[in-house]
Amino acid sequence: KAGLTDFLTYEHPGDVLFTKWDYPQIIERGKGNRIWDVDGKEYIDCISGMSAMNLGHAEKRIADAMYDQYMNKLDFWFDFPTPERLKLVKRLCDITPGDFPKRVRLALSGSDAIENAIRLARYATKRQHIISFYGAYHGQNTATMGLTGSGRMTSYYNPMPAQDNCLHQFPYPYDYRNPYGDEDGIECARRCVKVIDEMMSTGVTPLGAPDAGICNVAALIVEPCQSSAGYIIPPEGFLTELRKLADKYGFLLIFDEVQTGMGRTGKMWACEHEGVVPDILVFGKALGNGLPMSGIVGRADLFEDIDVSFICSTYAGYSMGCRVANTILDIFEEDHVLETCTKAGERIKEHMEEIMKNHPIVGTYSSRGVYLGVEFVMDRKTKEPAKAACHELINNMRDAGLLAQLNGYLNNRISFIPPINLTVEQVDEIFAIFEPEIAKIEK
Ligand code: PMP
Repeated sequence: KAGLTDFLTYEHPGDVLFTKWDYPQIIERGKGNRIWDVDGKEYIDCISGMSAMNLGHAEKRIADAMYDQYMNKLDFWFDFPTPERLKLVKRLCDITPGDFPKRVRLALSGSDAIENAIRLARYATKRQHIISFYGAYHGQNTATMGLTGSGRMTSYYNPMPAQDNCLHQFPYPYDYRNPYGDEDGIECARRCVKVIDEMMSTGVTPLGAPDAGICNVAALIVEPCQSSAGYIIPPEGFLTELRKLADKYGFLLIFDEVQTGMGRTGKMWACEHEGVVPDILVFGKALGNGLPMSGIVGRADLFEDIDVSFICSTYAGYSMGCRVANTILDIFEEDHVLETCTKAGERIKEHMEEIMKNHPIVGTYSSRGVYLGVEFVMDRKTKEPAKAACHELINNMRDAGLLAQLNGYLNNRISFIPPINLTVEQVDEIFAIFEPEIAKIEK
């Protein structure tokens, strides 16, 4: 295992964001929901590029489209219109929530797109401040890192542009570990929203300092489910409360669906589960199934008279990416991917209910569609995090041929984000490894 020094930088104690194995494997090949390392060892992929590979590896229809686009149509042009791009933009307007005129701005990474969302919010509202949540992950360029709620990650570089006296961060309503008290479900969410409401109405930040900038909030940005923090699903009603808050104070609501979007939770967008419509929705990852594709779709009026400085990036809206994205949307329709994902999600829940009955080391879990976070505790009453056991489990699962993620606010969650077009049998294969491995660490 020599020569892995850069990979071993993953070994930061207390890191909630990166998957950690003692020896990361070097992956060489993939097919469907399987990947193989350089030694030929096979794994079930329950990471799928952090939700980038929702349709699995080596999908032939995508490869054919890429070849055809490159050789027979247009390999590359610039950030200018092409037929594939126009088609994609129209489809994105059609499939995103909100019955109003919309516009799209394409980009490459999730971070680029989030940055565009923030710039658009500031442009459209003529305000500067942003509200985001602890534990959030919005990307890793300099501006988006400021919004990301992980102290360790940003601490070397502070202050980030978005943090520079313009950022207000609040706890996310995770009711298993309620940041404020004992309220469950929607009461926990309401409590979290109330604290933001208080800041907005009194002009006093949670730290007790009056802040004249509060009337200057341009947007609140939130993941409908907090992914990198541990695949946490907030109580139902949270997004509705945020919508009300945004309307009350006139700031924009931005949903970061970079990871929860493109069918991951069984609907095209996670916010559809609550029927809440954001002003700007950010998408990425699985729109390219391995190619960089991302963007924002927002209310058309926000883009009015948009300055040319907003619009130009060599690769944004590139023809190969747009062709692939259109092919992916075709596959969603042809294969009824959302239905398959929902069925697989039901099977995941059945397995998890069994695990909850039989394995007290599992404190709780959150799942929706093919999106699962499992929390491990030493004791269900005290909820003391079973960090070491979790670490052992992730390594043992790796040895047994199952790659998942270790994360969580307290480093005691294991998450499963396989491709979403899983069959029920493929779900059973995952649990046929996971469940016995839990039993082993409980002994
Ligand atoms: N937002 C969310 C919710 C994400 O999960 C990620 C990536 N994990 C990003 C933004 C940033 O995307 P990228 O890594 O493509 O810049």
